[in-house]
Amino acid sequence: MTEVRTRFSPSPTGSLHLGGTRTALFNWLFARHHSGVFILRIEDTDRERSEERYVKEIEESMNWLGLNWDEGPYFQSERLPIYRKYIQRLLDQGLAYYCDCDPADLEVRRKEALARGEKPKYDGRCRDRGLKPGSHTAVRFKTSQTGATHWHDRGKGPICFDNQELDDLVIQRADGIPTYNFAVVVDDITMGVTHVIRGEDHIPNTPRQILIYQALGSPLPEFAHMTVTLAKDGGKLSKRRGAIPILAYRDRGILPQALVNYMVRLGWGHGDQEIFSREELIKYFSLEHMSKSPGVYDEEKLLWLNSHYLKETPLPELARLLVPFLERLGIAAQNLDYVARVAGTLNTRSKTLVEMAEMARFYFQAPASYEEKGAKKFLTQEIAPTLEDIKKRLEAMGEFSEAAINQLFQDLSTETGRKMVQLAQPVRLALTGTTVSPGLFDVISILGKEEVLKRLNRALDFIYKEQ
Ligand code: GLU
Repeated sequence: MTEVRTRFSPSPTGSLHLGGTRTALFNWLFARHHSGVFILRIEDTDRERSEERYVKEIEESMNWLGLNWDEGPYFQSERLPIYRKYIQRLLDQGLAYYCDCDPADLEVRRKEALARGEKPKYDGRCRDRGLKPGSHTAVRFKTSQTGATHWHDRGKGPICFDNQELDDLVIQRADGIPTYNFAVVVDDITMGVTHVIRGEDHIPNTPRQILIYQALGSPLPEFAHMTVTLAKDGGKLSKRRGAIPILAYRDRGILPQALVNYMVRLGWGHGDQEIFSREELIKYFSLEHMSKSPGVYDEEKLLWLNSHYLKETPLPELARLLVPFLERLGIAAQNLDYVARVAGTLNTRSKTLVEMAEMARFYFQAPASYEEKGAKKFLTQEIAPTLEDIKKRLEAMGEFSEAAINQLFQDLSTETGRKMVQLAQPVRLALTGTTVSPGLFDVISILGKEEVLKRLNRALDFIYKEQ
C-alpha cells in the first residue's frame, strides 16, 4: 500500500470550532493509524477574510490537542504560480476557457432562473467564443454535460451526481486567484494526498473536484465525508451549545485528552467503548466505523469525560495545569508540591479545572466569611470549649500527618462522647468557610499547623463576638 497522506485544510477566516477540529482529529488519527503523513494546509486565498491571528489560533488549538502535523503549514496564497501552471494546462488542452461575463449580469440571470423555478446554472455562453486573457476575464472549467460522476465514499457509501446538475465553474477569478474547488484539487494532487476526510457539507463539491482530477489526468484520492454534529434538539450548534472556539474549552478548564475523546465519539465508534487512550484511538481508528447519523452535542458527557481525565492525570502534571486557573483567581501559587497535594484532594470532586481552582481557594486564602447556615448550626458558644481543646491538642502534636490527626479526633470523640461529625463540621467551617470540603484530615494536614491554628483562633473570635 502506498503511504497514507491526509491533510487538514482550514480557512483562517474565523476561530477553529468543534466541527473543524474533529476533521483535523480524524485526519490525524487516520494518518497515525497507518504510520502516514498528516499535512496542515492553510486555505487563505480569500485575502479579505483571512487573518494571521486565525492562523495562529488554528496552530495553537492543534498544538493544545496534540494534533501535530508532519508537513506544512502550506499557505495557498504562496502557491499561486503552481495553480496558474495547472490552469494553463487545462486552457491548452481546451478543457477550460476564458469568460468575460459581467458578474452583475450573471446575478440577473441567476435570479431569472430561480424565478422560472430552474436551478441556476451558468449557460456556457463563453465556451466557444475563444476569448483571450484580459483584466476582466475569469477562467471556467468545461464540465461534461452528459453522464454521471460517482464515487464510493468511505464515510457515506456510493454517491452519484448527474453531470447535468453541474455547470462550468469558475476555476480562476478575474483577479487571477484560483477558486476553492480548483486550488484544493491541485494541492491534493501535488501534495500526494491519498485520503480526503472532511465534513459532509463538502459532498456537493466532490463531483466538481473529481471532474477536475480527471481533466488533469490524476488518480482520485479516497473521499470520506463525516456527519455533522447537531444540538440535542436536532438544531444547529449555537454559541451556547458547543459552537465556541476550541481554545474556549481550554479556558473553561477542559483537558485536551477529554476533548479529543469526546470529539472522536461524535463521529466514530468502537463497540460501546467510551473512554479511549490516545494509543487506543490510533490503534482502532478506521473510516469504516465512522457514524452514519449525526453526532449530538452533549455537554454532560464532555464534563463526565473531563472528570475522568482529571482523576487520571498524575498530580504533578495536574498541579502544573491548575496554576493558571488559580492565577485567574488572584492566587499566585508558587509551590508546585503544595498545589499537587491540594489537587490530590480535589481531583475526584471537580468537573473542570475552573471548578477545581475555585474549590482550592481556601487552601491559599483564609475564609473571608463563613457560610451562614452552617455557622449558625456549628459555630456556637456551646462548641467553643471543644474547639479550644482541639486547638490545644493540635498545637501539642508533633507530626501533622493525616493518620495522627485522625487519631486525635477519634480520641476526642471517645472522650467527649460527641459524634465525629459534631467535631468535624465546626473545624471544617473554621478552615474552609463551608460545610462541604475534601476530607478534613487531609485539609488539616495540608494547611499545616500554623495556618490551622490561626484559622481556629479566628473562628473562636467569631463565636465570641457573635454571641
Ligand atoms: N478549506 C475548506 C474548509 O475550511 C476545507 C476544504 C476541504 O477539506 O477540502 O471547509
